Amino acid sequence: MIRPAQERLFGVIGYPVGHSLSPLMMNRAFEVCGLKCRYLAMEVTDLKEDLPILARVGFEGLSVTVPHKERIIEFLVKVDQEAEAIGAVNTLKRCENGWEGRNTDWIGVVKALESAVSSDKNFWFGKKALVVGAGGAARAVCHALKKMGMVITISNRTYEKAETLSRDFSCDVVPFDSLGNFSPGTWDVIVQTTSVGMKGYAETSSPVPPTVFAPGVIAMDVVYTPRWTVFLSGAKERGATVVFGLEMLLYQGVAQFEWWLGVPAPVEAMRKALEEALYVNSEGKR
Ligand code: NAP
Repeated sequence: MIRPAQERLFGVIGYPVGHSLSPLMMNRAFEVCGLKCRYLAMEVTDLKEDLPILARVGFEGLSVTVPHKERIIEFLVKVDQEAEAIGAVNTLKRCENGWEGRNTDWIGVVKALESAVSSDKNFWFGKKALVVGAGGAARAVCHALKKMGMVITISNRTYEKAETLSRDFSCDVVPFDSLGNFSPGTWDVIVQTTSVGMKGYAETSSPVPPTVFAPGVIAMDVVYTPRWTVFLSGAKERGATVVFGLEMLLYQGVAQFEWWLGVPAPVEAMRKALEEALYVNSEGKR
């Protein structure tokens, strides 16, 4: 038998995973809660071989990142309904006979919107939402907005991918190059889920023409570096309410912590750890 003798073990698995911010966020959370726990970033390439090893050496919980979020499902003994609907798992908890999987990315989206704008369920119900993009992040966003009772329209550069998503989540599709034709306020909520605007990738662009923004519109970006993407700056300039990508990252981690440990997560300490790593150390500003 092998078991960690002094600290409980948690971690993130992916490939590559060297730049993950999760160790900073989780270890800060453990520290401020006085928990004897340790969170490691681990490169994992062979899920079939490596998942049983991680269970045997005593890991209790794992975050899952690119490229394993979809394929990992076949190696789990139980997967929750939400992860099934999204088609991806980002969190594992060890159970008696293997690993159980959940998806907390969609919870991150719900909590980000609720904490930045309104936690009143009635506020969100029936709102018209535009989701731009049709990749992995878009699937978690669509699931979240649907759970909140919103009516979703999808737009993506590759139209066929938007159609697939629209079938899975019962939404409408509008062509990507037609977004400029829609008047301000057509959508109450606009979520940018593509990689466009990310530091090092089309950083000076936005896939959404700013003409769709108006006061009262809520604009959320899933990209978190830089904090102010071109998409969010355009939204702010036209009076929209903005929700930062960092909030989704934070709250998906909060949900992981709470599932693993069964105690409330120290949200502010976790946010501070992320902000220090993203906006103070690397950009010299906050
Ligand atoms: P993905 O599955 O590879 O999907 C990428 C999406 O971006 C696709 O819809 C793709 O369109 C679109 N895209 C890429 N380049 C484009 C361009 N030049 N013009 C227009 N559309 C473009 O990636 P993902 O996993 O969804 O991640 C997307 C972003 O979300 C990344 O920046 C990631 O870091 C971020 N993210 C953030 C969080 C968070 O917690 N805040 C969580 C997950 C992901 P096509 O289909 O046409 O290729």
